[in-house]
Amino acid sequence: MEINLISDTVTKPTKGMLDAMMNAKVGDDVFKADPTVNLLQEKVAAMFGMEDALFFPSGTMANQAAIKLHTQPGDRMFCDKWAHVYNYEGGGAAFNSGVTSHLIDGNRGMFTAEQLKVAVSGRADIHVPFNRLVCIENTTNKGGGACWDFEELIKIQEVAKSNNLAYHLDGARLFNALVAKNETPQQYGALFDTISICLSKGLGAPVGSVLIGSKEHIAQALRVRKLFGGGMRQAGFLAEAAIYALDHQVERLAEDHKKAIEIGEVLKQCSYVKNIEPIETNIVIFYVDDSIDSMNFIKRLEEKGILLISMGEGKIRIVTHLDYTAKMHEILLEELTKFE
Ligand SMILES: *Cc1c(COP(=O)(O)O)cnc(C)c1O
Repeated sequence: MEINLISDTVTKPTKGMLDAMMNAKVGDDVFKADPTVNLLQEKVAAMFGMEDALFFPSGTMANQAAIKLHTQPGDRMFCDKWAHVYNYEGGGAAFNSGVTSHLIDGNRGMFTAEQLKVAVSGRADIHVPFNRLVCIENTTNKGGGACWDFEELIKIQEVAKSNNLAYHLDGARLFNALVAKNETPQQYGALFDTISICLSKGLGAPVGSVLIGSKEHIAQALRVRKLFGGGMRQAGFLAEAAIYALDHQVERLAEDHKKAIEIGEVLKQCSYVKNIEPIETNIVIFYVDDSIDSMNFIKRLEEKGILLISMGEGKIRIVTHLDYTAKMHEILLEELTKFE
């Protein structure tokens, strides 16, 4: 049995999801004539209490479209030094939008309103870029699935507002945060100008992200998506999977979180584990003793059919998900315990 814990993107559509997909009503979405895509967009916009939404083939494209619509070339965007938009989108902010990234030295991918205030202050003359956008990420990916304190997000919005910055949320795993902290999509919809969410991470759809925002922003995003090559045709099959995920596979994220915490508890007992980052959602990041070496640890587990990933700097990552069964969990905990 292969136990793949590399990411929550490795899941396959469930039987219920596949059945729903096979029965989807579709049309040409470039002509806005795919009823299922339209339904998904309306559903997500309503969930967040925002005006409109747009379906994208990937989270990267949704984030990049957001950066594009909020900025002009030469503008400056603020994000954490670990942000996905900066580290893992191929330099897209610079490539697609000509935007300079100002990295804030946060903690586990999260910074404070005070840090943003310091970052945006300073001279504002012809020498310096226009400050235009602040991006945050919830949960944080490189930060090990950490969840932001909502009160801090409100304070950051205040700093953003008083400095005329747009406020974008990379919510690839926002539903993990909502479930873990018992928060609502509406709370987030009321705070941000644009929000991207992934359906293909913990929610278990095969493909797709949604960008949510005002009518005006989404109209602009539609144009940007076209020029990025992201206009899809009979995308309703994928939108149906996304609708299914939102209807049936949100609450169950709590099970992934529970398993992640249990893995952390077992790792704590293992003498070869040097450190474990706090576990808040479905991501476990830990370090093994130098005498073992993280790459060697990963290789030895791979020989047992257990796939983990290195995050660099000795970090090892485990991500729990929909296809990680109780039986697999049992096997993993046993292998971790007896590893030496
Ligand atoms: C996965 C992820 C994305 C988008 O990824 P795609 O693979 O392009 O869908 C964006 N932000 C974060 C934080 C992510 O984890």
